[in-house]
Amino acid sequence: MVAQVIDGKAFAAKVRAQVADQVAKLKEENGITPGLAVVLVGEDPASQVYVRSKGKMTVEVGMNSYEHKLDVDTSEADLLALIEKLNNDPAVHGILVQLPLPKHLNEDLVINSIDPAKDVDGFHISNVGLLGTGQKSMVPCTPLGCLMMLRDHHGSLSGMDAVVIGRSNIVGKPMAQLLLGDSCTVTIAHSRTKDLPDVVRRADIVVAAVGRPEMVPGDWIKEGATVIDVGINRIERDGKTKLVGDVDYASAAERAGAITPVPGGVGPMTIACLLANTLTACCRSNGLPEPEGLTA
Ligand code: NAD
Repeated sequence: MVAQVIDGKAFAAKVRAQVADQVAKLKEENGITPGLAVVLVGEDPASQVYVRSKGKMTVEVGMNSYEHKLDVDTSEADLLALIEKLNNDPAVHGILVQLPLPKHLNEDLVINSIDPAKDVDGFHISNVGLLGTGQKSMVPCTPLGCLMMLRDHHGSLSGMDAVVIGRSNIVGKPMAQLLLGDSCTVTIAHSRTKDLPDVVRRADIVVAAVGRPEMVPGDWIKEGATVIDVGINRIERDGKTKLVGDVDYASAAERAGAITPVPGGVGPMTIACLLANTLTACCRSNGLPEPEGLTA
């Protein structure tokens, strides 16, 4: 079997176009422009790139983008004061604090100081609890993007066997909750899982979120399974730097029914879902119906 490629780049462009349409309607019919505030502390080069592209895409879909760049030695009190200000600012519907934060700042404390209704990353403890209990919440962007691609490909996921490899709070755990919410039978595998190949071989859906280059070979994949590769790993090959996923794409594509490439799979969906979450937060805070197909 040669797998169908799930084109995350094209899908993300479609999601952003849907968001842009809804934003235009909100402006015209309600006089509201959604606003996303992004807070960056320090000068981590990767974080600077992410923040720049988030800002650019926010503006491209017609939203207001507010960037707050703070010195690396900003105190916790000053950061919390800024978040408090953004929490109380009616023009700001979404707040994202770019992680990781410098070591002297308590990430949990900072994230939990964001108004949960504006927590477009979905990392606030209230949103984690709401997702875990199947209630309306803000859903973390990367797993939301994976869910959208799976729903688009399969329609219903009900009754499917899903394996999520990785149990991080950012990807693995919320991904498993979302799949459970769509009535999959879910296994969460991790570094201590016994016989990972056997666990993966049973899965109709494999989501790999580990951060180890090409650790899942094709012969672990059940014939016809759908493979969602979240991993982004930079490796040196043939004297060049290359991005690869957690799945060995070439061998997995020979057995899978469908697979996301790296790059061009899950990656572009993350920012698209951040914009979708900002729109959702804006609609909710104004008592307006939520955009269809853009939430869990
Ligand atoms: P993490 O380091 O927080 O978690 C990795 C998980 O993998 C852990 O739960 C660990 O138990 C598990 N693990 C480690 N070794 C394992 C092994 N040998 N077998 C099975 N499980 C093992 O990472 P994360 O933040 O969840 O990110 C995972 C990957 O996804 C990284 O490559 C990251 O860059 C990527 N990522 C991509 C996006 C995106 O937008 N596409 C977003 C977030 C993360």
